Amino acid sequence: MHQYTVPLSQKVPLRLAGELSKRVFFVSEDIESFELVEEKEGETAVVCAVRVTTRAPSDTVQMRSMLNQLVSDDILPQRSVMEHRIWQSSHPVTTHDDTFDRMLDQGIAIPSGEGQLGFGDPFTGLVAHLDEVFRAAAQRSFGALEHRYPSLIPTGVLARSGYLTSFPQFLMFAGRLHGELDSYKGFVKQVSDRDSAEDTDAAVSRALADHSTHSGYTLSPAVCYHVYEQHAGKSLDADLVSVTARGTCFRHESRYHRSLERLWEFTMREVVFIGSENRVAEARNSFMQDVFAIVEELGLAGHVETASDPFFCDAKTAEKIWTQRLMQLKYELLLPVPGGRSVAAVSFNTHGSSLGEAFSIRTPDREIAHTGCVAFGLERFAYAFVCQHGLDPAGWPDAVSRSVQSSGATEASR
Ligand SMILES: [Zn+2]
Repeated sequence: MHQYTVPLSQKVPLRLAGELSKRVFFVSEDIESFELVEEKEGETAVVCAVRVTTRAPSDTVQMRSMLNQLVSDDILPQRSVMEHRIWQSSHPVTTHDDTFDRMLDQGIAIPSGEGQLGFGDPFTGLVAHLDEVFRAAAQRSFGALEHRYPSLIPTGVLARSGYLTSFPQFLMFAGRLHGELDSYKGFVKQVSDRDSAEDTDAAVSRALADHSTHSGYTLSPAVCYHVYEQHAGKSLDADLVSVTARGTCFRHESRYHRSLERLWEFTMREVVFIGSENRVAEARNSFMQDVFAIVEELGLAGHVETASDPFFCDAKTAEKIWTQRLMQLKYELLLPVPGGRSVAAVSFNTHGSSLGEAFSIRTPDREIAHTGCVAFGLERFAYAFVCQHGLDPAGWPDAVSRSVQSSGATEASR
């Protein structure tokens, strides 16, 4: 391990330390771990350096230049907006510290690669139960229609939505070999003739550089972009259209992957609203109330506050984050997990008319449609649930343990 202390040319105020922490691993994959170094500047503390640990010796000049650029482009321009807490559950915080280790020991969580896990019962039953509770609430309140979309999404759709240039760090592009015999043969030859010291990934990587192309598709980072694309160029036939879908989503989170708190591949239930400005705002707000009631009923500790997305690599970055916070376009439900941390298990978003405009969606009055979405991270939600209630269904709220046990019984009797 190699350790470097990289001094920052511009000091970062402590109120922005969290924003810096959210992005350090994206600076370089060489970084194994890091900590922020603070110093006193008069009465107040500031971050003056980042201490990074790398596995291999690293180019410190480049590391220093990238970290300083991150600070000047993405961190310092962010104006300060206090996080604003709008709801708190009545249940006290209690978490079982060793939940993740016990899930691994009992084969309930099965490591399958970086940021990827397989699951067994009772966790899978719990995820299915929670998903059904959220789906049913959306159907009851808005008549939300259930849809199913592919895991791949045309990259052009992500470009149209703005995702492609706002979150490049998360994207998992689908590549494929050039569709011709020479490419297939060249690929096979390069991979099978590799010298024995080279591992498969490195050989495939080298062969792909020579023989592959972008397929035009990307693994979906969210479900809702499919919904905007579905309505693109159309006029809605009602003031409010609501669609709900569950899908597998992919976000590469670099070294931020951690237990079940942050997965590379995960399941998302989304409820999407498209319609007039008032109806979309009303729908998001009233669905938040529905979700608060569900969290109370599930006996979970948690709270909701304003949030912003970790935008990147765009000159307008800071302005976007500030606008998002100030206009309260995004709220997150944070559920406590062990170690004093919490996970953002649900996000409640409105996008104004930006996506309606990008996808040319109009209301029945021919106005540009507004959009909003509520996204449930199902594994994260279920993980916070077992961290708080334990892994044994006997200790769960009755309605949940009954539902999980009866679905298990149905499975068994098939
Ligand atoms: Zn969404």
